[in-house]
Amino acid sequence: RAIYPDKVVDTLCPFCGVGCQTRVYVKDDEIVQVDGRNGPANENRLCVKGRFGFDYVRHPQRLTKPLIRRDDAPKDGAMMLNPANPWEVFREASWEEALDHAALGLSKTINSRGGSALAGFGSAKGSNEEAYLFQKLVRQGFGTNNVDHCTRLCHASSVAALMEGVGSGAVSAPFNAADEADCMIVIGARPAQNHPVAATYFKQAAKRGATLIVMDPRGQNLMRHAKYGLQFKPGTDVAMLNAMIHTIIEENLYDEQYIQANVEGFEALKEKVKDFSPEAMAAVCGIEADTLRSVAREYATSPRSIIFWGMGVSQHVHGTDNARCLIALALITGQVGRPGTGLHPLRGQNNVQGASDAGLIPMVFPDYKSVEDADIRAKYEDAWGRTLDPARGLTVVEIMDAIHEGKISAMYIMGENPAMSDPDQIHAREALAKLDHLVVQDIFLTETAWHADVVLPASAHAEKTGTFTNTNRQVQLGRPALDLPGEARQDWELIVEIARRIGLDWNYADVGEVYTEMASMMPSLDHISWERLLREECVTYPATSDDGPGTEILFARGFPTKSGKGKIVPADLLPPDEVPDDTYPLVLTTGRLLEHWHTGAMTRRSAMLSAIEPEAIAVMNPHEIRKQDLRAGEPVTVTTRRGSITALLREDREVADGMVFVPFCFVEAPANRLTNPQLDPFGKIPEFKFCAVRVDQL
Ligand code: SF4
Repeated sequence: RAIYPDKVVDTLCPFCGVGCQTRVYVKDDEIVQVDGRNGPANENRLCVKGRFGFDYVRHPQRLTKPLIRRDDAPKDGAMMLNPANPWEVFREASWEEALDHAALGLSKTINSRGGSALAGFGSAKGSNEEAYLFQKLVRQGFGTNNVDHCTRLCHASSVAALMEGVGSGAVSAPFNAADEADCMIVIGARPAQNHPVAATYFKQAAKRGATLIVMDPRGQNLMRHAKYGLQFKPGTDVAMLNAMIHTIIEENLYDEQYIQANVEGFEALKEKVKDFSPEAMAAVCGIEADTLRSVAREYATSPRSIIFWGMGVSQHVHGTDNARCLIALALITGQVGRPGTGLHPLRGQNNVQGASDAGLIPMVFPDYKSVEDADIRAKYEDAWGRTLDPARGLTVVEIMDAIHEGKISAMYIMGENPAMSDPDQIHAREALAKLDHLVVQDIFLTETAWHADVVLPASAHAEKTGTFTNTNRQVQLGRPALDLPGEARQDWELIVEIARRIGLDWNYADVGEVYTEMASMMPSLDHISWERLLREECVTYPATSDDGPGTEILFARGFPTKSGKGKIVPADLLPPDEVPDDTYPLVLTTGRLLEHWHTGAMTRRSAMLSAIEPEAIAVMNPHEIRKQDLRAGEPVTVTTRRGSITALLREDREVADGMVFVPFCFVEAPANRLTNPQLDPFGKIPEFKFCAVRVDQL
């Protein structure tokens, strides 16, 4: 039966950092079809999530009225076991009552304990304008820099290494630069699952003859297109990458002229990697010395080489060191600053780049300007009319620890779900339950919202106007396709309502006004006005004129560092925080599935995606399953020092012997009950990709 839509809206996909442009067909205020548009990142392509994962927006569990916790309801989330009946825990409230109650609890804490007793988590799924307002509220209104979001669980270590090495945390080239590359390294990333449209560019480049090198402890289907598929031992990235650097130096494959002009730290690197010969590192990383030498030669000698990486690199206690090695590879070979070359950490959520740019980070104001810099702070103090906190705030995991220590007692969480996404989930949920006052703003009663005192029903991606910045640094305009359900309200309006109630004189007529204020504080958005975005829909930053194209390739003429040079920081080989032993003999790694996005709040409420991947799974190699005397297709318990889950055991040859993979989207078997909260010292990112684990047949 043909469906004739009432309207057709051009907007964006709400899921990953690729930022596909979509055309949404609406009938009777419901989305009936989504097609790809000819956006610069997707050229009409969409993946299964973008095409079919839209019906969560009208799921019957959407929050449509403000909720206030009943006085006698426990805060520990135990009642969550009965999600069909939240009314034992919450009662419906009017907007006035809910907003007053939300703001009163925050104000009481500000007045009684000071700003440092509060914290806020914003969201990488929200727009740039929401991110900007949220961090402004925390800094100007609460008086603290305790504001963070899921970048801390994603690429914080990559950003730390990039800021230190090349002076910018964003990608140096878009992923579409694969079109012009002769050699591509994809390391610690599974783009066919997590950035599927980007993966199509990598496959096409390989098909036309570019050398594809895929490095991943798990096998993956991109390896079918690769000249080299390196299934290295988990946690040994530095050994493998330093062996490549050793080869490049030993065989004089580095670009001396480029190093002289553009790089500092080369001599220290030379000294550091002396002991990292491929022959010595082969046993450490599990890749033969000849292969390590071959891939090093391919990368260094190809005219144009580019590196893409993901959370397999970043989510380690040595994640920053892993990224430092990638930066060193690019700097010593001059494989950066030209078309077809570069450094590209594939960003996860649809707006994790933009939310980070807009200042949802505890160390920096918008555009990564340090909160500890008095001159920068003075600029914001002038603009915002108050003295600002001169100290860095706490990060996501540190905030949970600070709650346990009694240092933080009130939080505002917008669109994040730390009860599912934080490591050592029992510890994180106990922290949320300990708060005196928790305000959660979301579209569903998430696992985090069950701990809240006030729940504010907010807007889904398909219901809002706003800008979103994808992994390519493309600032794109999202448009509303649907009306808000029930009494749900726009996220940006709710932040403003809270701000006014805690005493701030905030007045914004619309999202465009918020964008204009934000852009006035962010040189990276120079020449990208709201009017231009309405007109052009997508502009890459930095742009150099009001109508010219943005700059796709960065670092063509040096680096935005103090010296103008790229800085090499040599990395040592450090062990993971927790290694297998007799009690926990296997290695646990966690991640995403093609069909389910992050904590599953959206995709598990999408009928088609949920039908494809309906059940919680733990995945092992059939050989390891036999060795451990387990049975595939039956339930197992997966146990670490922090907790245990029950999931169906699935066999998959992609998972190496000695490993277990658990996706983190299933609330009934939450992977993060198991994960290790130990942090990388620089990026403060937890070790999601490695801990010791045991699997038992149920
Ligand atoms: Fe959406 Fe990412 Fe898929 Fe594109 S690749 S359709 S942005 S999930």
